[in-house]
Amino acid sequence: MPEFVEIRTEPEEEKPELDVPFELLNLDLLKPHEELDPNELEAFIESVTGSGIFWKAALISKEGYVILDGHHRWAGLKKLNAKVMPCILLDYINNPEVKVYTWYPFIIGSLNHLIKVLENIKEVELIYENNKNVVFEMVKNMEAAFGLIHSNSNKDFIIITGNDDPYDLQKIIIKHLINDQEIQLGYIDTIKGAEDLISQGKAVAYFVRRAPTKQEIVERASRGKVYPPKTTRHSLPFVPKKIHVPLEKLLNP
Ligand code: ADP
Repeated sequence: MPEFVEIRTEPEEEKPELDVPFELLNLDLLKPHEELDPNELEAFIESVTGSGIFWKAALISKEGYVILDGHHRWAGLKKLNAKVMPCILLDYINNPEVKVYTWYPFIIGSLNHLIKVLENIKEVELIYENNKNVVFEMVKNMEAAFGLIHSNSNKDFIIITGNDDPYDLQKIIIKHLINDQEIQLGYIDTIKGAEDLISQGKAVAYFVRRAPTKQEIVERASRGKVYPPKTTRHSLPFVPKKIHVPLEKLLNP
């Protein structure tokens, strides 16, 4: 079971399929930029060992060999002692076709409980703010790790800051949210979608954050540092066609 639900308001399936060439790249050459979700890792390992076929090439930046999409495939193949992975190499930083967005965490459960959880995290400082635009502006300028937008019109919104790097703070906060039994964490792809969840009563709050830039992603990965899970959402104007590579070929190239 995944630890969270994922909602896409902009489905990938509607994009055209394209036959993009791939190559087998050495796993040790590739650099992750995000933390892994252990459940997703297990699901991939079960899938690939069950069928013996690898069908979805990873997306890799030509600059710095950063894994843009395919962290669990990479880590899963490593765990299976494979040597290489099918990869599509992309011009990244200056390529307008590759876009980077983020996922917005949202919460199902009690808002009061959520606020209590946040208040008890020692690394964070909460600033109460009634103007939503101020919250968004601070997030955009990276003066806040997260902004908390919620459903209760009698309460202020919350700006979440602290002394740590904003993405390290996000990591700490997300760990607390995952470990809490009384609330459920989900991720959604757009702010509009998150606002709809709140107005329809399907979620009590969502966290707004700024997506890192492509330069920041390459730079952080090159330093061997990673972002929290689901920080980036990379988007191409097409979906690469499925491939068909026997796992055996990745184990013994
Ligand atoms: P992330 O996108 O979070 O970096 P992944 O994309 O690697 O991590 O997550 C696992 C992916 O592996 C899923 O998108 C799933 O469709 C894909 N997958 C599942 N089974 C296989 C398989 N046998 N071969 C290739 N890809 C697979």
